[in-house]
Amino acid sequence: RTFEDCGFSAELMKAIAKQAYEKPTPIQCQALPIVLSGRDVIGIAKTGSGKTASFVLPMIVHIMDQPELGKEEGPIGVVCAPTRELAHQIYLEAKKFAKAHGIRVSAVYGGMSKLDQFKELKAGCEIVVATPGRLIDMIKMKALTMLRTTYLVLDEADRMFDLGFEPQIRSIIGQIRTDRQTLLFSATMPHKVEKLAREILTDPVRITV
Ligand code: AMP
Repeated sequence: RTFEDCGFSAELMKAIAKQAYEKPTPIQCQALPIVLSGRDVIGIAKTGSGKTASFVLPMIVHIMDQPELGKEEGPIGVVCAPTRELAHQIYLEAKKFAKAHGIRVSAVYGGMSKLDQFKELKAGCEIVVATPGRLIDMIKMKALTMLRTTYLVLDEADRMFDLGFEPQIRSIIGQIRTDRQTLLFSATMPHKVEKLAREILTDPVRITV
Protein backbone atom coordinates (compact mmCIF):
# COMPACT_ATOMS: atom_id res chain seq x y z
CA ARG A 1 0.00 0.00 0.00
CA THR A 2 1.16 3.52 -0.83
CA PHE A 3 0.00 7.05 -0.02
CA GLU A 4 -1.13 7.31 -3.68
CA ASP A 5 -3.75 4.60 -2.96
CA CYS A 6 -5.39 6.86 -0.39
CA GLY A 7 -6.75 9.35 -2.92
CA PHE A 8 -5.19 12.36 -1.19
CA SER A 9 -5.22 15.75 -2.91
CA ALA A 10 -2.15 16.92 -4.84
CA GLU A 11 -1.53 19.51 -2.09
CA LEU A 12 -1.58 16.86 0.62
CA MET A 13 0.66 14.53 -1.42
CA LYS A 14 3.14 17.39 -1.74
CA ALA A 15 3.10 17.97 2.03
CA ILE A 16 3.66 14.24 2.63
CA ALA A 17 6.57 14.22 0.19
CA LYS A 18 8.03 17.25 1.95
CA GLN A 19 8.12 15.24 5.19
CA ALA A 20 10.02 12.53 3.30
CA TYR A 21 7.38 9.97 4.31
CA GLU A 22 8.09 7.49 1.52
CA LYS A 23 5.52 4.87 2.39
CA PRO A 24 2.88 4.40 5.08
CA THR A 25 3.98 2.72 8.33
CA PRO A 26 2.20 -0.55 9.29
CA ILE A 27 -0.45 1.25 11.38
CA GLN A 28 -0.98 3.78 8.59
CA CYS A 29 -1.42 0.94 6.06
CA GLN A 30 -4.13 -0.57 8.23
CA ALA A 31 -5.78 2.57 9.56
CA LEU A 32 -5.81 5.00 6.61
CA PRO A 33 -8.32 3.17 4.36
CA ILE A 34 -10.65 2.42 7.28
CA VAL A 35 -10.55 5.93 8.76
CA LEU A 36 -10.93 7.47 5.28
CA SER A 37 -14.05 5.31 4.77
CA GLY A 38 -15.61 7.08 7.76
CA ARG A 39 -15.61 4.15 10.18
CA ASP A 40 -14.91 4.44 13.90
CA VAL A 41 -11.62 2.87 14.94
CA ILE A 42 -9.95 1.49 18.05
CA GLY A 43 -6.20 1.64 17.39
CA ILE A 44 -3.95 -0.26 19.73
CA ALA A 45 -0.59 1.34 19.01
CA LYS A 46 2.26 3.10 20.73
CA THR A 47 3.95 6.41 20.05
CA GLY A 48 6.63 6.00 17.40
CA SER A 49 4.39 3.86 15.17
CA GLY A 50 3.27 6.78 13.03
CA LYS A 51 -0.20 6.72 14.60
CA THR A 52 -0.50 10.51 14.59
CA ALA A 53 -0.48 10.77 10.78
CA SER A 54 -2.97 7.89 10.64
CA PHE A 55 -5.60 10.15 12.21
CA VAL A 56 -4.30 13.57 11.10
CA LEU A 57 -4.27 12.90 7.33
CA PRO A 58 -7.89 11.61 7.24
CA MET A 59 -8.89 14.54 9.49
CA ILE A 60 -7.68 16.96 6.79
CA VAL A 61 -9.68 15.03 4.16
CA HIS A 62 -12.75 15.02 6.46
CA ILE A 63 -12.52 18.79 6.92
CA MET A 64 -12.10 19.46 3.19
CA ASP A 65 -15.22 17.34 2.57
CA GLN A 66 -17.46 19.56 4.72
CA PRO A 67 -20.00 21.37 2.55
CA GLU A 68 -20.47 24.09 5.17
CA LEU A 69 -16.73 24.77 5.55
CA GLY A 70 -16.17 28.42 6.29
CA LYS A 71 -19.83 29.16 7.09
CA GLU A 72 -20.09 28.11 10.73
CA GLU A 73 -17.75 28.41 13.67
CA GLY A 74 -15.89 26.06 15.94
CA PRO A 75 -13.51 23.18 15.27
CA ILE A 76 -14.51 20.34 12.94
CA GLY A 77 -11.73 18.09 14.25
CA VAL A 78 -10.94 17.75 17.97
CA VAL A 79 -8.00 15.71 19.31
CA CYS A 80 -7.63 15.04 23.05
CA ALA A 81 -4.28 13.92 24.44
CA PRO A 82 -3.11 13.26 28.02
CA THR A 83 -0.14 15.66 28.30
CA ARG A 84 0.91 18.99 26.91
CA GLU A 85 4.02 17.36 25.42
CA LEU A 86 1.96 14.88 23.42
CA ALA A 87 -0.62 17.55 22.50
CA HIS A 88 2.21 19.72 21.21
CA GLN A 89 3.64 16.85 19.10
CA ILE A 90 0.22 16.23 17.56
CA TYR A 91 -0.23 19.95 16.98
CA LEU A 92 3.07 20.09 15.06
CA GLU A 93 2.17 17.02 12.98
CA ALA A 94 -1.29 18.45 12.19
CA LYS A 95 0.16 21.83 11.19
CA LYS A 96 2.50 20.22 8.63
CA PHE A 97 -0.46 18.86 6.69
CA ALA A 98 -3.17 21.41 7.52
CA LYS A 99 -1.10 24.15 5.92
CA ALA A 100 -1.52 22.46 2.53
CA HIS A 101 -5.22 23.42 2.57
CA GLY A 102 -5.14 26.58 4.68
CA ILE A 103 -6.73 24.74 7.61
CA ARG A 104 -6.16 26.42 10.96
CA VAL A 105 -4.94 24.38 13.95
CA SER A 106 -5.10 25.57 17.56
CA ALA A 107 -3.31 24.03 20.53
CA VAL A 108 -5.12 24.18 23.85
CA TYR A 109 -3.18 22.99 26.88
CA GLY A 110 -1.88 24.13 30.23
CA GLY A 111 1.25 26.21 30.60
CA MET A 112 0.13 28.72 27.99
CA SER A 113 -1.77 31.93 28.64
CA LYS A 114 -5.53 31.31 28.82
CA LEU A 115 -6.21 34.75 27.41
CA ASP A 116 -3.99 34.13 24.34
CA GLN A 117 -5.67 30.77 23.77
CA PHE A 118 -9.09 32.37 24.18
CA LYS A 119 -8.27 34.99 21.55
CA GLU A 120 -6.84 32.41 19.15
CA LEU A 121 -9.93 30.21 19.43
CA LYS A 122 -12.21 33.21 19.00
CA ALA A 123 -10.38 34.06 15.78
CA GLY A 124 -11.46 30.64 14.48
CA CYS A 125 -9.95 27.26 13.69
CA GLU A 126 -10.89 23.97 12.08
CA ILE A 127 -8.75 21.72 14.30
CA VAL A 128 -8.18 21.84 18.06
CA VAL A 129 -5.54 19.70 19.75
CA ALA A 130 -6.07 19.78 23.50
CA THR A 131 -5.54 18.34 26.93
CA PRO A 132 -8.96 17.62 28.49
CA GLY A 133 -8.79 20.03 31.45
CA ARG A 134 -7.80 23.08 29.45
CA LEU A 135 -10.32 22.30 26.70
CA ILE A 136 -13.10 22.32 29.32
CA ASP A 137 -11.80 25.64 30.69
CA MET A 138 -12.01 27.09 27.16
CA ILE A 139 -15.53 25.73 26.62
CA LYS A 140 -16.62 27.26 29.95
CA MET A 141 -15.08 30.60 28.89
CA LYS A 142 -17.12 30.28 25.67
CA ALA A 143 -13.96 30.48 23.57
CA LEU A 144 -15.45 27.76 21.32
CA THR A 145 -18.47 25.56 20.79
CA MET A 146 -18.34 22.05 19.44
CA LEU A 147 -21.56 22.28 17.43
CA ARG A 148 -19.59 21.77 14.23
CA THR A 149 -17.33 18.97 15.50
CA THR A 150 -17.75 15.74 13.56
CA TYR A 151 -14.29 14.14 13.95
CA LEU A 152 -13.08 13.24 17.43
CA VAL A 153 -9.79 11.57 18.35
CA LEU A 154 -8.89 10.34 21.83
CA ASP A 155 -5.15 9.67 21.80
CA GLU A 156 -3.40 7.58 24.47
CA ALA A 157 -6.75 6.92 26.11
CA ASP A 158 -5.20 4.63 28.74
CA ARG A 159 -2.87 7.41 29.90
CA MET A 160 -5.74 9.90 30.02
CA PHE A 161 -7.53 7.47 32.36
CA ASP A 162 -4.36 6.97 34.45
CA LEU A 163 -4.14 10.73 34.87
CA GLY A 164 -7.76 10.87 36.07
CA PHE A 165 -9.23 12.58 33.01
CA GLU A 166 -12.21 10.22 32.60
CA PRO A 167 -14.80 12.77 33.86
CA GLN A 168 -13.38 15.50 31.62
CA ILE A 169 -13.33 13.18 28.60
CA ARG A 170 -16.93 12.18 29.21
CA SER A 171 -17.95 15.81 29.60
CA ILE A 172 -16.26 16.74 26.29
CA ILE A 173 -17.83 13.82 24.41
CA GLY A 174 -21.22 14.81 25.84
CA GLN A 175 -20.93 18.12 24.01
CA ILE A 176 -20.11 16.63 20.62
CA ARG A 177 -22.86 15.53 18.24
CA THR A 178 -23.39 11.79 18.04
CA ASP A 179 -23.21 11.68 14.21
CA ARG A 180 -19.46 12.15 14.46
CA GLN A 181 -16.58 9.86 13.50
CA THR A 182 -14.69 8.75 16.61
CA LEU A 183 -11.18 7.29 16.84
CA LEU A 184 -9.70 5.94 20.04
CA PHE A 185 -6.01 5.15 20.31
CA SER A 186 -4.47 3.42 23.30
CA ALA A 187 -1.29 1.44 24.02
CA THR A 188 -3.28 -0.93 26.25
CA MET A 189 -7.00 -1.66 26.64
CA PRO A 190 -7.81 -1.91 30.35
CA HIS A 191 -11.43 -2.63 31.29
CA LYS A 192 -12.32 1.04 31.88
CA VAL A 193 -11.06 2.09 28.43
CA GLU A 194 -12.84 -0.85 26.80
CA LYS A 195 -16.06 0.22 28.53
CA LEU A 196 -15.71 3.82 27.30
CA ALA A 197 -14.98 2.56 23.78
CA ARG A 198 -18.16 0.46 23.84
CA GLU A 199 -20.16 3.49 24.91
CA ILE A 200 -18.83 6.11 22.52
CA LEU A 201 -17.82 4.27 19.34
CA THR A 202 -20.23 2.97 16.71
CA ASP A 203 -19.41 -0.44 15.28
CA PRO A 204 -15.65 0.22 15.52
CA VAL A 205 -12.94 -1.54 13.56
CA ARG A 206 -10.13 -2.74 15.84
CA ILE A 207 -6.56 -2.30 14.63
CA THR A 208 -3.55 -3.71 16.45
CA VAL A 209 0.10 -3.17 15.55
P1 AMP B 1 4.08 9.01 15.93
O1 AMP B 1 4.02 7.56 16.32
O2 AMP B 1 2.83 9.46 15.29
O3 AMP B 1 4.48 9.86 17.09
O4 AMP B 1 5.22 9.19 14.80
C1 AMP B 1 6.57 8.89 15.05
C2 AMP B 1 7.49 9.60 14.05
O5 AMP B 1 7.40 9.01 12.76
C3 AMP B 1 7.19 11.06 13.85
O6 AMP B 1 8.40 11.78 13.88
C4 AMP B 1 6.56 11.14 12.47
O7 AMP B 1 6.82 12.39 11.87
C5 AMP B 1 7.24 10.01 11.75
N1 AMP B 1 6.42 9.39 10.68
C6 AMP B 1 5.09 9.24 10.65
N2 AMP B 1 4.69 8.61 9.53
C7 AMP B 1 5.80 8.33 8.82
C8 AMP B 1 6.05 7.68 7.55
N3 AMP B 1 5.05 7.18 6.82
N4 AMP B 1 7.32 7.58 7.13
C9 AMP B 1 8.32 8.07 7.88
N5 AMP B 1 8.17 8.70 9.07
C10 AMP B 1 6.92 8.82 9.54
